[in-house]
Amino acid sequence: MEILEEVKARVYKFGNKKADGNSTMKNLLGGKGANLAEMSAIGIPVPPGFTITTEVCTEYNLLGKDAVVDLIKAEVEASIANIESLMGTTFGDKENPLLVSVRSGARVSMPGMMDTVLNLGMNDEVVLGLAKKTNNELFAWDSYRRFIQMYGGVVLGMKPESKEDIDPFEEIIENLKEKRGINLDTEFSVQDLQDLVFDFKDVVRKKKGLIFPSDPWEQLWGAIIAVFNSWNGDRAIYYRNMNGYPADWGTAVNVQAMVYGNMGDNSGTGVCFTRDAGTGENVFNGEYLINAQGEDVVAGVRTPQQITKLGSQRWAELAKIEEDDRLENYPSLEELMPKMYKELNSYQDILEKHYRDMQDMEFTIQDGKLWILQTRNGKRTGAAMVKIAMDLLKEGMINEKEALLLIEPNKLDELLHPIFDPKALKRAHVIAQGLPASPGAATGKIVFFADEADKYKNSILVRIETSPEDLEGMNIAKGILTARGGMTSHAAVVARGMGKCCISGAGALKINYKTRTLTVGNHVYHEGDWISLNGSTGNIIEGKVATMEPELSGEFAEVMKLSDKYAKMKVRTNADSPNDAKVARSYGAQGIGLTRTEHMFFEVDRIKAMREMILADTVKGRKQALEDLLPMQRADFEGIFEAMEGYAVTIRLLDPPLHEFVPHQLATQKELAEEMHISLQAVKNKVAELEEFNPMLGHRGCRLGNTYPEITEMQTRAIIEAAINLKERGIICKPEIMVPLIGTVKEFEFQEQIIRTTANKIFEERNDKVEYLVGTMIEIPRATLLADQIAKKADFFSFGTNDLTQMTFGYSRDDAGKFLPIYIEKGILKDDPFEVLDQEGVGQLVNLGIERGRSIKPDLKVGVCGEHGGEPSSVEFFYNSGMDYVSCSPYRVPIARLVSAQAAIKSSL
Ligand code: PEP
Ligand code: MG
Repeated sequence: MEILEEVKARVYKFGNKKADGNSTMKNLLGGKGANLAEMSAIGIPVPPGFTITTEVCTEYNLLGKDAVVDLIKAEVEASIANIESLMGTTFGDKENPLLVSVRSGARVSMPGMMDTVLNLGMNDEVVLGLAKKTNNELFAWDSYRRFIQMYGGVVLGMKPESKEDIDPFEEIIENLKEKRGINLDTEFSVQDLQDLVFDFKDVVRKKKGLIFPSDPWEQLWGAIIAVFNSWNGDRAIYYRNMNGYPADWGTAVNVQAMVYGNMGDNSGTGVCFTRDAGTGENVFNGEYLINAQGEDVVAGVRTPQQITKLGSQRWAELAKIEEDDRLENYPSLEELMPKMYKELNSYQDILEKHYRDMQDMEFTIQDGKLWILQTRNGKRTGAAMVKIAMDLLKEGMINEKEALLLIEPNKLDELLHPIFDPKALKRAHVIAQGLPASPGAATGKIVFFADEADKYKNSILVRIETSPEDLEGMNIAKGILTARGGMTSHAAVVARGMGKCCISGAGALKINYKTRTLTVGNHVYHEGDWISLNGSTGNIIEGKVATMEPELSGEFAEVMKLSDKYAKMKVRTNADSPNDAKVARSYGAQGIGLTRTEHMFFEVDRIKAMREMILADTVKGRKQALEDLLPMQRADFEGIFEAMEGYAVTIRLLDPPLHEFVPHQLATQKELAEEMHISLQAVKNKVAELEEFNPMLGHRGCRLGNTYPEITEMQTRAIIEAAINLKERGIICKPEIMVPLIGTVKEFEFQEQIIRTTANKIFEERNDKVEYLVGTMIEIPRATLLADQIAKKADFFSFGTNDLTQMTFGYSRDDAGKFLPIYIEKGILKDDPFEVLDQEGVGQLVNLGIERGRSIKPDLKVGVCGEHGGEPSSVEFFYNSGMDYVSCSPYRVPIARLVSAQAAIKSSL
């Protein structure tokens, strides 16, 4: 990569109702920087500052520290001078100092991923100046010790040494509290804070061999570089990989004048949402703390108070706090500072209307002046996402297309997940209650450490509070429970983003990491004990609670209806049983794109006949066994056709290698030998004979039907007879018989010949007819190349992108698990190509296949039935490649319907 020569400015200023940038510049300024610029420009009171662009981060990764500092030094110095003039303070000044915050800001929000340093510019002299100027020594020293603590952690890497250890600075704080017999940080005296500053610097010297930097400029450059480095930290990489964000996006750095929420009782800080992020309800809500800094609200050390009176009353009800007690100890901002509340309320209204989406805002009140620190589109649960989109539409803030585009398709998945069975809930023993931070039902075994979340199949991560290091474990766990923290704590925000059930701030829990126990009252729960969480009520329940299918909301149905209005590409389902077909139909599937017939053979009553068929040495023997299978297959097909009445059903002929069906264990081999009246050795010989070096490239797909035509005959008979039987009962079905894994036209022709001959025979026998199609899977690269020749014969194409991916990459589907995770971690591959279609490579073959096929038959029906048919980015690709339908598992059908609509909308914009 070259230096980005064309870059005009590397640093963008904002403040005083002006800005160099705006909200459209997210890629360059990061989400946070772009929004700060926009807010400033529309007259919201944001503390002045500047943003160093994401491109500088890329330059830093390329050129290193010294070169990058040289590149931006003059612009950074001029920007600091601009803040100085707007705030009337001076960076590093002893009398009237300017202090700044330094924050990361990628183009998308990555909560808790990147690091923040507050109060930068502080040193032994500045602290005295600040104390004098604010006439508040306590505040000045508290800011100083907080600065060292954050700078030490973020820039100098002073972190806990092991997971059982606490942060080295927190340890000093705890020791001092114990010595002084106090509980809260707010109880420290000036002397205590001075001691802390001294001890903090001392621990930096001892652990890092460093003198803590006192020069504000040295501090500033250290922090800027640390933000750049944090882009390549473990947490950021994990989050990026989880969300598929590329490494070369980089992060911006935001430097902004500090404003203080901890300047006394006329100051405070908080986080608020323009709507409820859990349910989507249109109520302004949020939390704040008096005399605190931003980190205090999210860190969950003190119990935050609610912003609105209504929210405060709801909270008190859950926490079982009497109204008098609430008013005296936990009043809402609305009640405590009505003027500030009114102003804040007006800004939330302006911001939501301006961005036309639910906003998540941070604010600070410094000595009676309100500052908005940031706003962004708020993270929300799937349920809230659906409700907010439909509400904004009804309120006229957005139109139908925008409403559909506001919904992240994968989020719909959450709504389709199980909830607790109300009957089981009646018997449930609720042991404690916390805040309903993220809805859902979770049941699992207790684990106390995030890196042990995979210890059990279903685990519940129980923590005093969570931190960004816990992200991976939070993702693995079924649910998250924390003793501390409010609705905006790290755990709550991250869990909502993941759509994971979470209860936070359950104060009654006593968690001991050393003994790995959770105590509630006098009951002790151990690691591995079952508990259940109801994220919608905040109830913590002892033991396991049964779950059931969810009921879908009215808004969900509205989204689906709207999707169908705009969608052009149809959505079918992959279903192997009448039940799957029914579920998929209830989710709006318009037909079946793939029935894998082999799945029916694995059931207990069929596997025996199947094995007999495979073990038979003669055609006669095979036909005999197939006779036994015929009625079962026919009955299966009748059930599926009936469930999908009126829609097309694609049934694929037998596909997997036969060795998958034969017994590999001695006991079952013996059983089979006895049942078939043959020797054990004969069974063993046959099993050995079927063994293949590369079964995925072996005797499977249409190669089976071409070597054992009687299998194709039997399956065709089952399909056609089922269709005629239903026709007699007045049920219309449209069978589509699909030949798997063809690579040559002849392979298809041979199969088609058997199918058509068999069907004609049945029509004669029954003196009746049904319409049916004979088509093929396109899943071998050669088939895409010869698609024009194949299209001359086949009635339809269905792309099998699982095999097509396997054979295009040359990655065995069964063995790729060994290296794919490493490839993704190292960035050799961006995604798992078996999950997300490789548009660049496999996608070319798909397009080529469609193009060549339709060059012969312009109306050729084309679909896809590989796993990619339910993955949003792939579904969008399939729409753009001109497919008639995608087919996916029943639970992905709503997602595919939405993406189909979104793709059509996007392409019309
Ligand atoms: C495919 O290969 O994409 C496909 C749908 O078939 P299977 O996964 O059964 O091989
Ligand atoms: Mg396949």
